[in-house]
Amino acid sequence: MKKISEIFKTKKRIFSFELFPPKTDKGYANLLNTIGQLSDLKPDFISCTYGAGGGSREKTLDVVEHIQNNHGIIGLAHLTCVLHTKKEIKNILDNIKARGINNILALRGDPPLDNPDWQPGHDNFKYSCELCAFVRQHFQDYFCIGVAGFPEGHILCPDKKKDAQYLKTKIDNGADFVITQLFFNNNDYFDYVKRLRGLGVTVPVIPGILPVTNYQNLVKFCGLCGTAITEEIKKIFEPIQGDEETTLQAGIQFAVRQCRELLDRGAPGLHFYCLNKVNPTKEILEQVRSGK
Ligand SMILES: Cc1cc2nc3c(=O)[nH]c(=O)nc-3n(C[C@H](O)[C@H](O)[C@H](O)COP(=O)(O)OP(=O)(O)OC[C@H]3O[C@@H](n4cnc5c(N)ncnc54)[C@H](O)[C@@H]3O)c2cc1C
Repeated sequence: MKKISEIFKTKKRIFSFELFPPKTDKGYANLLNTIGQLSDLKPDFISCTYGAGGGSREKTLDVVEHIQNNHGIIGLAHLTCVLHTKKEIKNILDNIKARGINNILALRGDPPLDNPDWQPGHDNFKYSCELCAFVRQHFQDYFCIGVAGFPEGHILCPDKKKDAQYLKTKIDNGADFVITQLFFNNNDYFDYVKRLRGLGVTVPVIPGILPVTNYQNLVKFCGLCGTAITEEIKKIFEPIQGDEETTLQAGIQFAVRQCRELLDRGAPGLHFYCLNKVNPTKEILEQVRSGK
């Protein structure tokens, strides 16, 4: 399959979706159906998370292979190094390559809830920049490598300058592009890109977009990942929490506004956290594309 880095060279804007591997067979069957409908929107790539949420790790590769083989769309396989030895990572990368997947998102990941005190030893990677270097050392240019970026700083590194420096190390170690954590204030994204450009980072930085569908879940999730709930978000969604349909429509309106401004001000595309659903992403993307 084509590398995502090659698409950036030919297209001004790219659109992509993120899914996660379901835990049950029924969930997996539903996901295949979702992938079919998302494919109709002709995304530039579809990614699948690894390890997050407790879904089987092997399933990530099944999903990505399905996306590529059944829909002819580029698949991006997330890979986290937490809990894996370097030897295991090498085997997983060999397996990814054998499956014909050549785009990966190189991540550190977080220790799981049932093993929160896990610490990397000599045989493990401590940071994702080490995984990037390892991939380049063992596979040269076979893989196109994406990495995670944090416009508001990572939750464990609120010093934005330092966190941007760490991002630069990932790029110096071989990464080709960045997908950001979700955020609600576009200035955080543009300030972040400016910080990175100031450090000499030239690769594309794709903003990650989470459509709001449930305010209480959002508050919980943002507490875990360190994304700020802005005053604007609070003002829109707090008064209507509990009203599913009104929240959904307000979420679509907010995301369309956010996406349009990002593109108008020069973002190289949009990456949607779909949460394994077709809507509201479909509705948002169609409105953004049509310019209505
Ligand atoms: C787009 C996206 C996709 C994601 N997909 C998944 C997924 O599929 N599965 C999953 O489990 N999680 C996923 N995550 C969550 C991610 O794994 C966590 O946010 C994790 O805490 C950080 O991962 P990272 O790759 O950014 O780690 P790193 O880049 O290793 O950073 C981790 C922490 O260490 C600091 N740091 C980095 N490098 C250095 C260094 N050289 N020296 C000192 N400190 C350093 C950083 O500032 C940060 O605080 C995703 C996140 C994003 C934004």
